[in-house]
Amino acid sequence: MTAQTHHYDIVIVGGGLAGLSAAAYLANKGKKVAVLERGALGGRAVTLPIKGFHFNFGAHAIYGRDTSVLRTFEKELGIHINWRDFTPSKAKYDIGDEVTDVPANIQGLFRTKVLTGLDKVSFTFNILKTMLKLESGHPHLSIQKWLEKKEVNDEVREMMLTLASSNFFTKEPEKIPSDVFFRYYSRLFLTNKPVAYIGGGWQSLIQEFVRVIEANNGTIYTKTKIDRVSFEDNRITAVHAGEETTFTGDQFIMCIPPKELDKIMAGSRLEGLAKHYAQYDPTYVMVYDIGLKKRIESPYTYIYDKQNNMFITDISYYDTSCTPEGGQLLQATAYLRQEDMGKKEVLEAYKEKIEHMYDKHFPGWREELVVPRVSQRAVVQEIKWTMNQQAMPVFFPDYRNLFFAGDWCQGQGQLSELSFSSAMSVCEMIMQHQELELVSKHSIG
Ligand SMILES: Cc1cc2nc3c(=O)[nH]c(=O)nc-3n(C[C@H](O)[C@H](O)[C@H](O)COP(=O)(O)OP(=O)(O)OC[C@H]3O[C@@H](n4cnc5c(N)ncnc54)[C@H](O)[C@@H]3O)c2cc1C
Repeated sequence: MTAQTHHYDIVIVGGGLAGLSAAAYLANKGKKVAVLERGALGGRAVTLPIKGFHFNFGAHAIYGRDTSVLRTFEKELGIHINWRDFTPSKAKYDIGDEVTDVPANIQGLFRTKVLTGLDKVSFTFNILKTMLKLESGHPHLSIQKWLEKKEVNDEVREMMLTLASSNFFTKEPEKIPSDVFFRYYSRLFLTNKPVAYIGGGWQSLIQEFVRVIEANNGTIYTKTKIDRVSFEDNRITAVHAGEETTFTGDQFIMCIPPKELDKIMAGSRLEGLAKHYAQYDPTYVMVYDIGLKKRIESPYTYIYDKQNNMFITDISYYDTSCTPEGGQLLQATAYLRQEDMGKKEVLEAYKEKIEHMYDKHFPGWREELVVPRVSQRAVVQEIKWTMNQQAMPVFFPDYRNLFFAGDWCQGQGQLSELSFSSAMSVCEMIMQHQELELVSKHSIG
């Protein structure tokens, strides 16, 4: 085979949500872009069709969609997203002997039994302060330490940690840095659309990004694994897929997780930094989806087991396209600890707990079961929020034409919102850089 070299304005490595959204945005701005993906498009945002059910690897829930960066992409690119808003009154906590409202809005706050009397007032006061940005936490204080310092009483403390546990997908909410916690809630408490699903699942969003990329003459290469980077002084000059294929570019955006970066940045000025971020722990969950042939009616579409830190969502209630006619798709997610990983018997125990939760809230599911789907080690976020870990910057001064995006990078929100927001800030940096170059060319001319 003869060696080939392709040149683009911008070369994007990784075809997950970060890579595809950045590519669509820049292609739409007139840049000649290429996306290089080692497997199929979508990364961790995949929709798997099995026996007529469409399982999403992950719940494809977008938090605070009205103020989300995905919404900005939607408007800028004219992509179509079939938003399916969540009904807060159908969100419940399982508190053992009974089920009670999640205080996700004022009605829920009044009705919930997890807070009583004056604690409701105190909780509301804390929410208000967060909304008004009067409380911003501190990067050196975990939320646990912050709660102790402020002498927050037990019930309100537990409520804040339960909320954080469910939003940050963690069993250890007390370890979240308090500044991250307050930044997140100052946006979420102000939203009118706390949670929304994407009708058609992740696949439909990916198709929309691909449509925009292709309509603007972008090129997508799948089954193209980048294994090496070439550099000269403070610039990246090329990325390579094996010995035969080379991609040169003016700018490069790496939308691959730190553990993958570590492999391809060997010998570069960023070798040490890539290693540093690659050693961090991700947020792991177990996902146990079930496709049922007939709906099991329930008064709630989201139920969170406070004691076991696991929840079930009736995905098909919001997205009817994900099941065959009359069917139901339920998704259970259990938050895992780092030390649970690789322990077969511990993971088996989680699976059993999830099945008990299905028995309790969706009795009869076993008789209706068509297809179960279990992921025992799903990475919800590449870098977990804890006091001894931090998100990766989107740019390092060592290489002036190299940028980074993904849910391991600094940005707004959680999960895919981090992928979208880091992708957006990289796109803005690249476009601003181009404007500055044009201005300086004109002023010299
Ligand atoms: C179980 C689960 C539930 C979730 N639930 C939600 C949710 O409800 N809401 C939400 O917003 N988010 C959710 N997420 C998170 C969301 O899926 C991720 O944040 C998002 O998909 C990450 O996208 P990304 O592009 O940043 O990274 P990735 O998806 O990891 O993309 C990286 C891409 O790079 C490719 N790649 C890696 N190495 C190379 C190489 N050397 N050469 C070429 N390509 C390479 C990979 O194949 C991959 O396609 C969930 C995730 C999981 C697993």
